[in-house]
Amino acid sequence: MEHVNNESNQSDDRGHVDDLVTRVRSVRNGEVTTRDRLEEMLSRIDEVNPTLNAFHEVLGEDARRHADSIDARLAAGDDPGPLAGAIVAVKDNLCTTEGRTTCSSRMLEHYRSPFEATAVERLRKAGATIIGKTNLDEFAMGSSSENCAWGPVRNPHGVDRVPGGSSGGSAAAVAAGCADVALGSDTGGSIRQPAAFCGCVGLKPTYGRISRYGLVAFGSSLDQIGPISRSVRDASLLYEVMAGVDPHDATTSELQVESPHSDGPLDLRGVRVGIPREHVTDENHPGVTRSFEETRDTLRSAGASIVDVDLPLTHHGISTYYVIAPAEASSNLARYDGIRYGHRAEARPGEGLEELYARTRGEGFGPEVRRRIMLGTYVLSAGYYDAYYTRALKVRRLIKQEFDGVFAQCDVLIGPTTPSPAFRLDADLDPVSMYLNDVYTVNANIAGIPAMSIPSGHVEDDGDSLPVGLHLQAPAFAESLLLRTASAIEATRSKA
Ligand code: GLN
Repeated sequence: MEHVNNESNQSDDRGHVDDLVTRVRSVRNGEVTTRDRLEEMLSRIDEVNPTLNAFHEVLGEDARRHADSIDARLAAGDDPGPLAGAIVAVKDNLCTTEGRTTCSSRMLEHYRSPFEATAVERLRKAGATIIGKTNLDEFAMGSSSENCAWGPVRNPHGVDRVPGGSSGGSAAAVAAGCADVALGSDTGGSIRQPAAFCGCVGLKPTYGRISRYGLVAFGSSLDQIGPISRSVRDASLLYEVMAGVDPHDATTSELQVESPHSDGPLDLRGVRVGIPREHVTDENHPGVTRSFEETRDTLRSAGASIVDVDLPLTHHGISTYYVIAPAEASSNLARYDGIRYGHRAEARPGEGLEELYARTRGEGFGPEVRRRIMLGTYVLSAGYYDAYYTRALKVRRLIKQEFDGVFAQCDVLIGPTTPSPAFRLDADLDPVSMYLNDVYTVNANIAGIPAMSIPSGHVEDDGDSLPVGLHLQAPAFAESLLLRTASAIEATRSKA
């Protein structure tokens, strides 16, 4: 199988990962310029993007201008911020004033945003250079990055495999060395599942921790923006820059953002690590089970206390999600009528407005988005609202309570991120099997708690060696604990 992943992702024999923090330092020390780093990644994109299709748009000239201005400021003795020298890719459902914001949909094929997402703006203010917009499942609906208006994304670890979704372009870009880090969005697993499939770190913060302003809305009560990176330290750095209250998003929390690594390395001794029985089942791929058991044993030898816990509502997460997310999507996507903006079908003589709307939406949206709109409209319709939508909200409450109960017994939860490694592009999964990819990840969105995926080694599948992820979850706003635990686990792995 052909690989295009970047070997420099791997840690060296002393366990040092060639991560963003190290690279940014070399720009500061004057060993290399931002421009040099950018040019290297632009050539990398030229080399691999025709195969991977990870980028919709490369912002070459804008990025060169930014990189040069960062280098000029550094040369003048200025401090352009903690991300000076960093090259970042941005999922194409985040509004940027440079380039288009298409959400991988014909509906927004030519859309240029007049404003920038707060998360992107904060990265720029911290000195980051945005290299391009990454491919995704249309409107972030999917788990394979195949529901794309302009072709699927391929996995750098094996180009006949999917990279996961919906932030597949972002994960593939990082894994292939086309960016230091990338932004994704996660409504039910869209940062963590592609991170797992591509051997990256992916963080979904607590709901309300990072502003959603400028993120094209899918399921507004579930959506969060987060980083996809090569190391936990990189994810922490981006998290710190982006997190915090934003007057443009009333759901952002006023709670102080802690600096995850200010307390130094976490000692795993004394950390109570919970393992939900429902996440370690025979339904998982044998390689996933083996890799997870190895991590558990490593943690035990590092002194963590392992507690078995129960999350019996785990398997109700998917059905709850597939009522709430489509309900919110059907409402959020009602704005694309082709009149105010977006694709508009050619009007036919004698046709009424209703028909024009219907044809416009039929042409502009792909099949999965149409399916979600129909599902959502159905569960919100007068006769079914209570039976589906109200009931799903009740189960949502129960899932939250179940997490509260479990976090009284342990500090963090671990499990596999996905039941299997990346599947093949031609797997042609039916919608429900595709939805089941998120069985371990959706509940964090339903409960609003922070969660992340970190690399957990490679497994053999049908002759290919593919990465899998370890999933970690923590109580709301406990990102510091989550990131510090992830970092400690990452360190035990690189020593192993
Ligand atoms: N795979 C899930 C879906 O299709 C989650 C997507 C996401 O997190 N954006 O809806």
